[in-house]
Amino acid sequence: MRAQALISESALHHNLRLLSARAAAPLLLPVKANAYGHGLETVARLAAPWPEVWGFGVATPDEAHAVADLNLGKPVLLFGGSYPHEWPELAARGVRLTVSTLEAARTLPPGAQAHLKVNTGMHRLGAAPAEAAQAGHALAQRGQLEGLYTHFLASEEEDPARSVEQLRLFLQVAAKLPRALLHCANSGSVLRHGALAGMDLARPGLASYGVMPAPLSSGTGLRPVMTLRAPITHIHTVPAGDTVSYGGLWQAPKDSVVATVAAGYADGYPRGQTNPSVRVAGDLRPVLGRICMDQLMVDVTGLTVQPGDWVTLWGEESEPPLSEVVTASGIMEYELLTGVASRVIRLPIA
Ligand SMILES: *Cc1c(COP(=O)(O)O)cnc(C)c1O
Repeated sequence: MRAQALISESALHHNLRLLSARAAAPLLLPVKANAYGHGLETVARLAAPWPEVWGFGVATPDEAHAVADLNLGKPVLLFGGSYPHEWPELAARGVRLTVSTLEAARTLPPGAQAHLKVNTGMHRLGAAPAEAAQAGHALAQRGQLEGLYTHFLASEEEDPARSVEQLRLFLQVAAKLPRALLHCANSGSVLRHGALAGMDLARPGLASYGVMPAPLSSGTGLRPVMTLRAPITHIHTVPAGDTVSYGGLWQAPKDSVVATVAAGYADGYPRGQTNPSVRVAGDLRPVLGRICMDQLMVDVTGLTVQPGDWVTLWGEESEPPLSEVVTASGIMEYELLTGVASRVIRLPIA
């Protein structure tokens, strides 16, 4: 028994319903990076039957194949760049490809479905508006233009000016092309802007997992999908004056009962935190001294605990929430979630 990530089906479904309603569109659910650390297979299997989910978005060809292997009967879009030699196999499996150039639009294998990406200012992938219009025509002529999309660079900001300008450029391209599935909105956009007129799909990633992108804060009614927890493996008394963990940074001011917990930075619980606390037996308790690779120590003086009891590292608001680990570590939400190690078992719960 070691660190586990509990994945709440009810929280996930709650979030997807809420976000789909806010966006007034079905979701192209991002499950890239192992579903933001929640487990690609776990999340895709849970979400596939729900009507709020149009399909899944992935970052790499391997992730696309992993979702396709599950035979869930919903479309998969490869958000990331890909190479011509990868297209035939992806297309044969029904994976939708992101097209960013006229050249790619002209050389896509027959039968491949494309989502053409318009670069409206992010300058990551996508064709500039004029080239995108040409590429869109080339794709549409061959019946290969399923979708048209762009990506906001600052949608989480309170001032919508930059998103409004990106949307304007995007809609200009869309107006020149035959009808395709239009989608723009990431988490920040769905939470800040709600429904965008004319959009067919929305792509909130982080928010689907119940976490707000900074500087947005709580109050949107989302529920965290992941609870990261680990069991106590050992309990002993540390005499006053002794120190705990590497470097002896924490010194017991009095005789203290210390629990050793089977989670460390190699599980994704960051080492460089200032005064982290965890929940044990209903109490928030401080982590003592350095977090080790595979273990950490907690002060459980006065609590009734035994080996095998669970300690929560992050979870619901009272647990503490992920945002507290962000504050304590300076590591952003996206990085914390995607940093949960592969050795941490993902356990779906109701
Ligand atoms: C990751 C990604 C998203 C989701 O972004 P969030 O900030 O997690 O909502 C949406 N669209 C594309 C193309 C992405 O790569």
